[in-house]
Amino acid sequence: MLRTHTCGELRAEQAGSQATLCGWVQKVRDKGGMVWIDLRDRYGVTQLIFEEGVTDTKVIEMAKTIGREFVLKASGEVVERFAKNDKIETGDIEIKVTDLEILNASKVPPFIIDNDTDGGEELRMKYRYLDLRRGEVRDKLMLRHKMLQATRKYLSDSSFMEVETPVLIKSTPEGARDFVVPSRVNKGEFYALPQSPQTFKQLLMVSGFDRYFQIVKCFRDEDLRADRQPEFTQIDCEMSFVSQQDILDTFEGLTRFLFKEALDVEVGEFVHMQYDDAMRLYGSDKPDVRFGMQFVELNDVAQNKGFNVFDQAELVLGICAEGCADWTRKQIDALTDFVKRPQVGAKGLVHVKCNTDGTFKSSVDKFYSQEDLKAWADKAGAKPGDLILVLSGGIDATRKQMNDLRLHMGDLLELKDPMNFKPLWVLDFPLLEWDEETQRYHAMHHPFTSPKEEQIPLLDTDPGAVKANAYDLVINGVEIGGGSIRIHDQKTQALMFKHLGFSDEEAKSQFGFLMEAFEYGAPPHGGIAFGFDRLCSMFGGSDSIRDFIAFPKNTSARDVMIESPSPISRDQLDDLGLDLLPSE
Ligand code: ASP
Repeated sequence: MLRTHTCGELRAEQAGSQATLCGWVQKVRDKGGMVWIDLRDRYGVTQLIFEEGVTDTKVIEMAKTIGREFVLKASGEVVERFAKNDKIETGDIEIKVTDLEILNASKVPPFIIDNDTDGGEELRMKYRYLDLRRGEVRDKLMLRHKMLQATRKYLSDSSFMEVETPVLIKSTPEGARDFVVPSRVNKGEFYALPQSPQTFKQLLMVSGFDRYFQIVKCFRDEDLRADRQPEFTQIDCEMSFVSQQDILDTFEGLTRFLFKEALDVEVGEFVHMQYDDAMRLYGSDKPDVRFGMQFVELNDVAQNKGFNVFDQAELVLGICAEGCADWTRKQIDALTDFVKRPQVGAKGLVHVKCNTDGTFKSSVDKFYSQEDLKAWADKAGAKPGDLILVLSGGIDATRKQMNDLRLHMGDLLELKDPMNFKPLWVLDFPLLEWDEETQRYHAMHHPFTSPKEEQIPLLDTDPGAVKANAYDLVINGVEIGGGSIRIHDQKTQALMFKHLGFSDEEAKSQFGFLMEAFEYGAPPHGGIAFGFDRLCSMFGGSDSIRDFIAFPKNTSARDVMIESPSPISRDQLDDLGLDLLPSE
């Protein structure tokens, strides 16, 4: 090793001993007779000191030529500092340098490589390898590393076998667009990159592997949002001979283990909630249950009193904001503006202030007596001092709008502490989902999810009402994972494809291999996948998954560092038998 210690290692106890450190120059302070250099590596920062009259002239002259991010090897005595720095772990000591070697020079970096950087996002992404030198970025990847190791340990200790599945495959049905790769050897044909290893993990169950896991890259060509990347990592699992409860227990165990190992947090109860209840009480299949403010349906107390808007509505929905009766006109107008934004889409907002003197003041006083409003308050569980907010309209739209409003109130009232973790299993998702655009049903999870057995006959009469053995793990309003008990017999699988509008030929050509495998003794099985990047960002108390990916893509799906995607040469296109249409 070129060094005896790392830059994060030395303490007062080592004072008096000799040390050699290697690292990058974080900062140089040249005060004429004295020069200090902060030397950084992955483990920390140590101060080097050079002193005229004490340090060899050649060494001090060399120190004066050094710039930020030079790579140095410095040797000398570890001395206790006169002025200690309690902000860094090595702050009690410094190195009185006697030998100095510049291992490599550096251009002036394009931004300050420190937690408090002057570099904007785009610039830092272009020089991501420099951004990764910053402690706070490195810590995030360290957290990810810990979680990767803990995941492997927990699953391997629970008899899960890590099996790698191919990356060049054929389309998988997770509902997004595929990334495709042209085949040179088989011209005119394409591989698809896996949206998940779904079919392979099911085939591994047919092979008798019993418990599979993989920490695996998945690829989905979707419009990007802050919490999405075109390639992302899943903790992907499958188990045989299990009930849904076994899967929930196993992955509650994994989640608890990760919280303990990575954050030393004991998470509380994993609440179980039916999908229907999640939609009814929170208007979302991933409710944030860190705070209450559950929806209250007010139809019976708010309708038929002459207020046309409510009378015509399918649903009149309220939430109670505790202690907000004293909100000003301005604050309530801002809420109205919020719900009227096109992203939310409500036409207006009705409010009722439950005054502390027991009276009520609403924006619809014209239509409702004090008694009427008291009935609302009773229904909403509102006490004097609370504020009731009411939206109305079609059921689905009103629930969605109220979900937005509730989450917004959660922000305004600071009810979303990112380090207060509230896990929730959402159970019994619908099997199918109506798609307006294509005018047909799609699998809500994927086509291999098993319907509730007793509801299979409903597939013919009321397909939208059929529930699936499907579940999501939600933490703090974020979908962390999802899975299902699978169909494992050829007949039900064929029925499912039929209901999804596949002809026999289409089902056969896309998934014939799986249907055939089911004829060779497929065990009952089920599984789940966790979005690993998202889990990391949640553990790190951040909204951005990009921070937890070493080399992420930007919101236009570009890697601005390596400049990808990029055109390929005419020769490469010819090899692949491809031509490009002239761009407009
Ligand atoms: N393959 C599914 C997904 O990526 C997870 C599963 O059903 O296990 O969402």
